[in-house]
Amino acid sequence: MRDELILVLDAGTTSTRAMLFALDGQVRALAQQELTQFYPAPGLVEHDPAEIWERTLVCARDVAAQAGEAGRIAAIGITNQRETVVAWDRVSGEPLARALVWQDRRTADRCQALKAQGHEDAVRNATGLLLDPYFSATKMRWLIDNVPAVAEAADAGRLAFGTVESWLVFRLAGGAHISDASNASRTLLLPLAGESWDEGLCSLFGVPRTALPEVCDNAGDLARTLPEWFGRAIPITGMAGDQQAATLGQSCLAPGDTKATYGTGAFVLANTGTAPPRSRHRLLGTVLYQMAGQRHYALEGSVFVAGSLIQWLRDSLGLLASAAETEALARSVADNGGVVIVPALSGLGAPHWLPEARGVIRGLSLSTGKAHIVRAALESMAHQTCDLAEAFAADGAAWQRLRIDGGMAANDWLAQDLADILGLTVERPDFVETTALGAAMLAAVGAGLFPDLATAGEAMGGARRSFEPQMDETTRMQRLSAWQAALRTL
Ligand code: ADP
Repeated sequence: MRDELILVLDAGTTSTRAMLFALDGQVRALAQQELTQFYPAPGLVEHDPAEIWERTLVCARDVAAQAGEAGRIAAIGITNQRETVVAWDRVSGEPLARALVWQDRRTADRCQALKAQGHEDAVRNATGLLLDPYFSATKMRWLIDNVPAVAEAADAGRLAFGTVESWLVFRLAGGAHISDASNASRTLLLPLAGESWDEGLCSLFGVPRTALPEVCDNAGDLARTLPEWFGRAIPITGMAGDQQAATLGQSCLAPGDTKATYGTGAFVLANTGTAPPRSRHRLLGTVLYQMAGQRHYALEGSVFVAGSLIQWLRDSLGLLASAAETEALARSVADNGGVVIVPALSGLGAPHWLPEARGVIRGLSLSTGKAHIVRAALESMAHQTCDLAEAFAADGAAWQRLRIDGGMAANDWLAQDLADILGLTVERPDFVETTALGAAMLAAVGAGLFPDLATAGEAMGGARRSFEPQMDETTRMQRLSAWQAALRTL
């Protein structure tokens, strides 16, 4: 086996990490640091860009030192929380404001105004996205309008905007200002089919094009680190937003291949091939990756509340000591005892898009016990996923099977229930760090260590466990109709 190593930087929302991958997919070293979350007011979420950079660098140097193998790091791959906006001075390299995090809702009014002016259809057709504060463009404009240092830098032609991977590359490489196509496709400024930023979209959102990075491939010779960081220049050869990276890490490389990540929320992406997807069922179209200028696309649907429902049962209701307990509790009863939970604790995401909806627990009786409620909570994951499956199918991207990952996917009962309700094989890799693996695969291909992603996936991806549908059709239909009835009460 060749002994080159890939250093992956995974700059997430709550923490940033570095991992060292061997070419057989084994992780040789890992370091992680928490990121400070700033909540200046309800609905506002900020990060400190200097902290993101410094802590990522500390982790990177730590794993390089742990393995004592900086000399063998052949390439760097980066994956990151998407949509979050960083503004910095391109001359000094210093941040000009706190980063506005994807969860931040401060531009909701601006989005509403643009919708009222009738811009949503055109924006959607061009970018595959919706007019929602989640995406980057309105955050960029907010920074210009509200932070004097950002406005001054814009006037002086020194302003640089970027998502988190772009910021990290700028610092790592000492001034390269690039963003990969998967991250760029989350800004509202990149047409799905367009090579680069669209002038019309930039002017609609009031974002100066000169402040934006160059859009680059997801793999290739993208940039090189300054020698001062690791003792020598290391090529950065792969980058992707976290959900796209996880899709590649799950080897969803052919059209129709679909993965679902169950963390705090749930993100489903289906590979749709090389033609830009157009959803008629309120899913998002997004760039999965771009190589040698050729784009591959995905349809995406997000569920707002997944693991956070379990956290709520544990921390707010005190029903659980740990999330893992849910599995034994669900198994301890024969069925949900008539309880249905619609977990709209922060609204319902795709395909319903009811941000104002609130959660429902239905069907309580004197015989309802804790286990029924916990079981209904887990069941709501399969139901939310099933609603997404219908929307994907209606958009011409029917799932053949579903590959799952994320913290909740460790729950065997949940995995089996998903298979039962979807009526599909559900596959779970033994190695669940699919996001980092996807970034490692991109970087390995970008460095020429493998000819393509499929070969990289075969070499680096491990074994999977399958869950086959077993539920009888009557039970399944009863579950589905009880869920539909509960949805109608929202
Ligand atoms: P994120 O990346 O969004 O922080 P993770 O992928 O780490 O999330 O998943 C953590 C979530 O999964 C938590 O919300 C937790 O409640 C839930 N979770 C973890 N283990 C289990 C389990 N065995 N069964 C059900 N839920 C679980």
